[in-house]
Amino acid sequence: MGRAEKARAVVLSSRPLGEADRIVRLFTRELGRVDAVVKGVRKTTSRWGGRLEPFNVCDLVLHPGRSLYTVTQAQLVDVFLRLRADREGLTAAAIVCEAAAGLTPDHEPEERVFALLRNTLRELDNGISGRAVQSPLVLGALLKLLYEAGYLPVLDHCAACGSGGRALGFSAARGGLVCGDCVGEAVPITPEAIEALADALSRPLAELRGEPASDAIGEALRDVHQLYAYHTGSRLRALRIAGGG
Ligand SMILES: [Zn+2]
Repeated sequence: MGRAEKARAVVLSSRPLGEADRIVRLFTRELGRVDAVVKGVRKTTSRWGGRLEPFNVCDLVLHPGRSLYTVTQAQLVDVFLRLRADREGLTAAAIVCEAAAGLTPDHEPEERVFALLRNTLRELDNGISGRAVQSPLVLGALLKLLYEAGYLPVLDHCAACGSGGRALGFSAARGGLVCGDCVGEAVPITPEAIEALADALSRPLAELRGEPASDAIGEALRDVHQLYAYHTGSRLRALRIAGGG
């Protein structure tokens, strides 16, 4: 057994373990993405309260075990109460946290990803308009996560031939927009969706939050989801359930 570690964590997700315990998937500032057991958390007399619910930010003490950490102390840092009461906000948080879990390797500290997740949850707590699957904030957060993972889509020229011709398609395999000559098996893309991608990439999340949801953003989000699926080999369950592809 190694020594206990202190870590500040966003709780990404949680699943039951045995009768009384849970395994939480965490993105920590100090250790990157790790899984940890929370003992007794499902008992009605649990001392943990709601502290280790998904989308909370906590200061934790983690004891390393053979394959998993065990949480021995938890102090709440941020709880996003307005987000908790907003169905679309919760869907948005679930999509972004699932993508973060899928795009980050186990146990590799990445302070920027931690900051990005916390910032996204804060903005979601301020409220989004319209559906999560058409939200500019969700699109922006996913693009920034893809950037951190090294999978930023190519938007300023054809990802296949390098020409500056007008983009007519989006290809996950090529890694971005493709021109008319290269469109082949790529998914056709509208000029509005291209603009939504460029916008979501270049603007801060706080600004994106205030922008209205739209069909073009929904289309851009489906393309980004294809890119995510291409690189991770899996699709975002939270996005699929919400009807966003
Ligand atoms: Zn081309």
